Amino acid sequence: MSATQRILLVEDDDTLAETLVEQLALHPEFSLTRAETAKQALDITQKTSFDLILLDVGLPDQDGRETCKIIRQKGIKTPVVMLTGASTDADTILGLDAGANDYITKPFRFGILLARMRAHLRSQQNSESAVLAIGPYDLRAAVKVLEVRESGEKIRLTEKETNILKFLHRAQGAAVPREVLLHEVWGYNAEVSTHTLETHIYRLRQKIETDPSDAQILRTVDGGYCLNL
Ligand code: CA
Repeated sequence: MSATQRILLVEDDDTLAETLVEQLALHPEFSLTRAETAKQALDITQKTSFDLILLDVGLPDQDGRETCKIIRQKGIKTPVVMLTGASTDADTILGLDAGANDYITKPFRFGILLARMRAHLRSQQNSESAVLAIGPYDLRAAVKVLEVRESGEKIRLTEKETNILKFLHRAQGAAVPREVLLHEVWGYNAEVSTHTLETHIYRLRQKIETDPSDAQILRTVDGGYCLNL
């Protein structure tokens, strides 16, 4: 888990969005990205992963509930908190298959939103203490250990190595572009180059690959990396 919690705000109302941007800026643990339409939200969630999504129900191009449903269909498990208008029937928000985790009715007090956000981020992190299967290994991200499933032998990882594996695992075997992985692991404001990432990948392969020069688990693909799960 990188120190910064990446929040995606999907909201077409400039006044509300600007207020939230200002208020969240006072909390350095959050980095906020804004999308104004459902289309922008779907595009960006395709390329980048977030720790939490705040999703307006009344988007100009789509009902936010439908957007949430599509996000879930794409396999994205990020907690979604819907921002609803007072006139929206709140019961339908968490309804059957939209897949939202929570909703908050406008107008809301910032403190209430913040408390909800933190609660969802915490429960997400707890679920991340689960064991992730990667090839012959089990990744225990919370303790930065890769365990050989058969022998129980433990390989210690650095925090960056753990996060690299975690984010690649999240892509479920799909290719993750270098730039995306770099941002995921080092954060958006970090001034690191892809060379830094490549150095970490090199060291990680020394630890996990039988033949690091012919990687079979952490594979290089066109423009990025993927995991052979
Ligand atoms: Ca709206």
